[in-house]
Amino acid sequence: MTDAQKENIRYLRGEGLGYRAIAARLGISENTVKSFCRRNDLTGVASKEPPQVCRHCGQPLAKAPKRKERKFCSESCRRAWWKAHPELIDRKAFYPLTCAECGKEFLSYGNRKRKYCSHACYIKARFQKGGCHDEGTV
Ligand SMILES: [Zn+2]
Ligand SMILES: [Zn+2]
Repeated sequence: MTDAQKENIRYLRGEGLGYRAIAARLGISENTVKSFCRRNDLTGVASKEPPQVCRHCGQPLAKAPKRKERKFCSESCRRAWWKAHPELIDRKAFYPLTCAECGKEFLSYGNRKRKYCSHACYIKARFQKGGCHDEGTV
């Protein structure tokens, strides 16, 4: 094997090609490629995907193939990261609404159908107005 061929094997291995594909490209035998890779520690499957690590602490993430892509190793890392990057929160998910009870404007996150700015206003609206509209009142 020539030095150029060796270089090519390293390069193609880095690109994620298998032994057979490399052998075919370089016109050498698959066994030659295989033994070269073994001797030079190139046997690990090269992956183009970035390693899955927690965005916050950098710990590798456990694989969860059937779930959505994970970005954090734990709930506390997720909170800490978002706390540190408030500018990245999707502002479009905030709806400016007016409270049906106190008339105050408030921002509702992800729910444009909220009627009240707070649970207290909800309770007030529901229980302090005579309750004649309440279902189930005996
Ligand atoms: Zn983490
Ligand atoms: Zn209110």
